[in-house]
Amino acid sequence: MQLKTILNRVLKIKSFVYGTVRWVEGEEEPTIEIEVRGRENSRPECSGCGRRGPGYDRLPERRFEFIPFWGIKVFFLYAPRRVQCPRCGVKVEQMPWAAGKHHLTDAYAWFLAGWAKRLSWKEVAEAFHTTWDHVFHSVQMAVLWGRKHMEMSNINAIGIDEIQWQRGHKYLTLVYQIDAHCKRLLWIGKKRKVKTLLGFFRWFGKERSESLRFICSDMWKPYLKVIAKKAGKAIHVLDRFHIMAHMSKAIDEVRATEARELKAKGYEPVLTKTRWLLLKRPESLSKKQEVKLTDLLRYSLRKNIVAPAQRSPKAKRKAASRRTEQDDLPVHSFQMLLADLATITKNRIQPLIPGSPTFDKLTTPSHVQQKALDLLGVRL
Ligand SMILES: [Zn+2]
Repeated sequence: MQLKTILNRVLKIKSFVYGTVRWVEGEEEPTIEIEVRGRENSRPECSGCGRRGPGYDRLPERRFEFIPFWGIKVFFLYAPRRVQCPRCGVKVEQMPWAAGKHHLTDAYAWFLAGWAKRLSWKEVAEAFHTTWDHVFHSVQMAVLWGRKHMEMSNINAIGIDEIQWQRGHKYLTLVYQIDAHCKRLLWIGKKRKVKTLLGFFRWFGKERSESLRFICSDMWKPYLKVIAKKAGKAIHVLDRFHIMAHMSKAIDEVRATEARELKAKGYEPVLTKTRWLLLKRPESLSKKQEVKLTDLLRYSLRKNIVAPAQRSPKAKRKAASRRTEQDDLPVHSFQMLLADLATITKNRIQPLIPGSPTFDKLTTPSHVQQKALDLLGVRL
């Protein structure tokens, strides 16, 4: 079997043929050179518009690196024709084996990009006796191709996150698809500003943004603002870690201010180490803490949300009966309610009848679940 026969099996190029194959003893390492010719009477294809036109002239011979064979470097040699194109003027012809301006065939670029998924770019360059630059351009080609051919339908849920880089001085905004059927990174933007996230929604498109159902993000203000504006129909899920972090900070700030005011008025510093007293449920307080809390409440602190609430008689009755008075529902803790709500599932059903479409079936919410959903303003 000849090398040409093998090549025609692995890479048959329309309108071109393989010519002479040469073994070349170079200064550094031996190479195989393969001449490529345009098929007899074929007309070159314009690289501008893709139409065939009359040949204009021929440029000097170029070398295009192909996948190495038995560890030997392989090059295609071809002198590109120029086309006299009626639309674009004089243009160099389209060469189907190499899309980029780089001296790599597409087949070799895909080969390198494939290895770059397993090894570092430097290692790939070393393993195949090529340059880091060639590996970089191969990966870039693969990424550009991937972006262009990305499947973007059926994205219902996204997560937005920020990461720090360059020793924490700079931020990147990352957007993930977080659907059950597909989890992947969709988009990366520099910084974490309003403009950054607007960039994502511009890229993502108006129609897709409006049909998003769930968005997860932290409480970073620019994100909140943009999400409300661009994906108003989606349920915006804020992660609990950030909500608690913000709450704690707010409580600390108010405590510090109050403590300063009390100190200025000459009171003893009752507010230090009271943070947990304020956050704890009254029934969970220890005896000592209870005394301290009673003490604390003697000072008339500012009437605000941070001061512990006194239970109304109605609330006390509710705590005793574990049921709401108004509509006689069982009392849920936030935890229990979340756990209960999590039992709502969506099942995708594919009937066994050939060609029948799939459909989704939602669990019917219980009375309590429905009430919670109504209060949250969530429609399933
Ligand atoms: Zn053209």
